[in-house]
Amino acid sequence: MVSTTDSALEQDLYRAVFRQAAVGIARVAPDGTWIEVNQRLCEIVGYDEQELRARTFQDITHPDDLDADMTLVKKTLTGEIDTYSMEKRYLDKAGNVVWVNLTVSLVRDHAGAPRYFISIIEDTTARKHAEQQKREADEQLRLLVEHAPTALAMFDRHMRYVVVSARWTDDYDLHGKDIIGRRLDEIASDLPLVWRTAHSRALAGEVIRTEEYRFDRKDGTVQWLRWVVRPWHTASGEIGGIIVVTEDVTDKKIAYEQLRHLAHHDTLTGLPNRRLLNQRLMQSIKHAQRRQQHVAVLFVDIDHFKHINDGLGHETGDHVLKDIGQRLTHAVRDEDSVARISGDEFVVLLESVPCLDNVLPVADKLVRCFSDPVRAGEREIRVTASIGVSIFPQDGHNAAQLLRNADAAMYSAKSGGRDQYRFYSRHMTDLAIERLFYANAMQDALRQSEFSVAYQPQVELSSGRLVGMEALIRWRHATRGNIPPSVFIPFAEQNGMIRKINHWILHTVCTQGARWLASGMLFGRIAVNISGPQIEDGHFVDQVVRILDETGLPADRLEMELTESLVMRHTSTGFQQLQALRDLGVQIAIDDFGTGYSSLSYLKQLPVDKLKIDQSFVHDIPDHSDDNAITEAIIALANALDMQVIAEGIETDAQMRFLCDKGCNLAQGFLFSRPLSAADMTALCGTAGTLWHTGTNDGVPTLPVQH
Ligand code: C2E
Ligand code: MG
Ligand code: MG
Repeated sequence: MVSTTDSALEQDLYRAVFRQAAVGIARVAPDGTWIEVNQRLCEIVGYDEQELRARTFQDITHPDDLDADMTLVKKTLTGEIDTYSMEKRYLDKAGNVVWVNLTVSLVRDHAGAPRYFISIIEDTTARKHAEQQKREADEQLRLLVEHAPTALAMFDRHMRYVVVSARWTDDYDLHGKDIIGRRLDEIASDLPLVWRTAHSRALAGEVIRTEEYRFDRKDGTVQWLRWVVRPWHTASGEIGGIIVVTEDVTDKKIAYEQLRHLAHHDTLTGLPNRRLLNQRLMQSIKHAQRRQQHVAVLFVDIDHFKHINDGLGHETGDHVLKDIGQRLTHAVRDEDSVARISGDEFVVLLESVPCLDNVLPVADKLVRCFSDPVRAGEREIRVTASIGVSIFPQDGHNAAQLLRNADAAMYSAKSGGRDQYRFYSRHMTDLAIERLFYANAMQDALRQSEFSVAYQPQVELSSGRLVGMEALIRWRHATRGNIPPSVFIPFAEQNGMIRKINHWILHTVCTQGARWLASGMLFGRIAVNISGPQIEDGHFVDQVVRILDETGLPADRLEMELTESLVMRHTSTGFQQLQALRDLGVQIAIDDFGTGYSSLSYLKQLPVDKLKIDQSFVHDIPDHSDDNAITEAIIALANALDMQVIAEGIETDAQMRFLCDKGCNLAQGFLFSRPLSAADMTALCGTAGTLWHTGTNDGVPTLPVQH
């Protein structure tokens, strides 16, 4: 309730404010007649003071707003409210709409009867117009964006969709999704990182053009898109968000890819050309350097290709080249490359080769690629190739060197008679030749019975009694003579022949053991050496069970020797196999113990019965204090773990005495006997059992030490 004052000073102040106010002010009678109006109000509604005072506010109020105003007037008069504000329209003298903000207060007399209203009227027409225009402009913009022929979207600062074009909805399969107001990353969870960085850069004012990205559409087609991301500004000039425009560059990309392919590939075979090969080679050298691996370059040159071309025509020549290209490609892994670098020259690049042994089988395979003739219509054409191999880093440190040296090796393969491969380094070539020899020779050896087994006695020192023997393979090759197992077993392990060879040994040994057992010979156990690929093959135990069954040898007559390094590989298959063997009753010994960095805690868990002290330690006892100490430590360890311990390679009395003193009661070595053929072993043992004079079994007849 506004109170009136009679004070003259206040009257003057009121008059001054009333006249000079920048807003319209009026006193209005309870019936709506304008009693007093200021200049500003006259300007707002276009009437002069007199004209206005001849009217009521109802006369100049827009008919659509009259009811609302009258309701509030009534509420004020009845005392329900003291004052009100509203936005309303007048019609000015010329009939134009004038928007105003109206604030009305009622002044009452002392008795509380209404005297007049004080109305304050602020002209908001200009602001209203501006708002209206903006709304219309926004609507226009929205329509413009929605119907834009490109895929574009507007986002606010928080990456929420503001508006998108229909193309955008199409391109990103967003039909039926309510996306406006939702964050982009809610809708596209696998948002490329480029988006996030582009978003924050654009918000900082930058315009970003991204690289092109592959986009797999639901219908299976592939699109290549790239985005232009730029900020948009609010009316006050701040960055309100970003606008993203998608450019479909699929056609450009396809054209570019085709060009690139042409520039990097050989048109006849479709294989990479020299340029691409060089790039890949340089890249793989970098990778290999980082990972400390090898890279192999195999230079393949078709032998006498000129004859094919000249004799059978270029068309046939082309056909041969294509065929060879395919064969080479099939012969290598997907990550390797086959390139055609000129007429009849191909290069195979083996990337990330962890170990040199991986190169040989590939070289072999490439040579074998040529074993079937190439078919050209009715004709069958025999083709061979010469292959030169160079290896990073030993044969060259850069692409050019490696290619040059592979080329040189290829020439050496040519001069060596063609249809073969040669390594750039002599050593590798020798090794490769050896491997090839062994791969073939071992097959023949099995077929032609060149293998045999020798048995070396194992003696109990306290009694001089024969308690067991170790079966050792022997190979008498037709031209090379005796080949020691330490030479051929590693080759057999690499080329897989070891499985067949070991099966043969086990079978032979078990048959012999069963025969000795039947004849009443007392030989204890026979130990067989087992190698890695066997124990890691899940079927090994089944194989042993089958052989024991077939031959009739009881499992407790068999012992298996595994080298320490093999046992310590910790493979779970290996562990299970050992456990299963032991459950059968087969005894397990660790061969060459002391050389393989055993983990003691692991050793404790292993299903192992016996440690075999490596002969390198035995060799220098008792004169070498380190070896003495190691040997003693192994004996103590075996005792502590409740395992048996045997020393091998004993050649002298002094060695035997030392071991016996330190508590090693089992022994094997030339001092007692060299490995013997089965027949010699039978003769040595007879049926009464064999005794050696060990000095510790006094009173026992001394038998000659076997040589
Ligand atoms: P190993 O299992 O440690 O076998 C002991 C080697 O020491 C045998 O050599 C044996 O002849 C030799 N030897 C025995 N007593 C003495 C001695 O007093 N002085 C010296 N200097 N040497 C002695 P061999 O037969 O040449 O075998 C070498 C290795 O080849 C074996 O070492 C074993 O690792 C492997 N091997 C032998 N036969 C087989 C087999 O049938 N299968 C498998 N997987 N490996 C075998
Ligand atoms: Mg052994
Ligand atoms: Mg050994």
